[in-house]
Amino acid sequence: MKHISPFPLTAPQPQKLAELRQSFEEWNSEPGILNRLVRRLSATLKLDAQLTMLAEEMVQVIPFDAFQYRHQLGRQEFMFTTGMGGPHRCEFRLNLEGENFGTLTLHRRKRFSNDELQAVEMLIGAAICALRNACHFSAMEQASLTDALTGIGNKRAMEEALQKAQMLTGRHNETYSLILCDLDHFKAVNDTCGHVVGDLVLKRVTEALESAVRSSDSVYRFGGEEFAVLLPHTDQNDAVDVAERVRSAIEALRIDCEEHSVAVTTSCGVALHRAGEGSGQWLARADEALYRAKDQGRNCTRVFATIS
Ligand code: GH3
Ligand code: MG
Ligand code: MG
Repeated sequence: MKHISPFPLTAPQPQKLAELRQSFEEWNSEPGILNRLVRRLSATLKLDAQLTMLAEEMVQVIPFDAFQYRHQLGRQEFMFTTGMGGPHRCEFRLNLEGENFGTLTLHRRKRFSNDELQAVEMLIGAAICALRNACHFSAMEQASLTDALTGIGNKRAMEEALQKAQMLTGRHNETYSLILCDLDHFKAVNDTCGHVVGDLVLKRVTEALESAVRSSDSVYRFGGEEFAVLLPHTDQNDAVDVAERVRSAIEALRIDCEEHSVAVTTSCGVALHRAGEGSGQWLARADEALYRAKDQGRNCTRVFATIS
């Protein structure tokens, strides 16, 4: 095995240092578009920032009316558009080492020439490594916020969303409500039917939850059998209605377990966000309401009332 010493084994080499300095200066002042593009892209791992840079550099060589990029990143369809369409378009699939990293489409009123198509390919060729890194980074970022079993947001995603909601309530007078759901006697489901069925129940509960709420609401799994729904533009009374709808949807579920089927119920706690309140306090009030629902018989909804 070759040993690389961290310390210089020979005397300093002024010629090498001078060469490096010259190379650095050339690299920094190199006017070439590809060099500049690669240098700019390497400064960020954010996919939308990279695409903005690519569009800015590209439009100087190949004028276009619209630049559109699409890619399936995990569960999310990522879409980036700048400009407005035109009847002519050219489409490029971005591939590197057999892996696809999205589709880039340019639109404009005038047909694209062969030389222009080749120029787009050259720019993509220079950008593809940076774009791949940004795609991987974005997928990892998404995975760190996603619950592996159910595919919905995890506890970290919920905490970020609550903090954002808390800021929006302060700044824009937005009305946010929070529902916490905890499945009743879920341990008994695992004990009777096993963990595999238990996991299946958790997935079916997630589907029921997502169908019972609006698309603007977001659902999180923040504990083993604990779920949260964050509802924008929703006051306390409406949130209680949604919680009851969620509770009924879960109660109606039937999941096959050998010869019989399993049914589960949930208890729900509701809290409206109060102006100036921190996300921790808000969560604690919803949890207190949930505790009351458990204490007062389960399969019911309780609210930590805020009198307006
Ligand atoms: P309670 O009505 O008081 O909430 O009773 P409970 O049994 O639901 O509550 P407890 O906290 O005693 O137990 C929660 C159970 O949830 C324990 C564990 O077996 C189960 N659980 C947690 N995470 C998972 C999971 O990822 N998969 C499965 N199958 N079960 C899980
Ligand atoms: Mg629990
Ligand atoms: Mg429980």
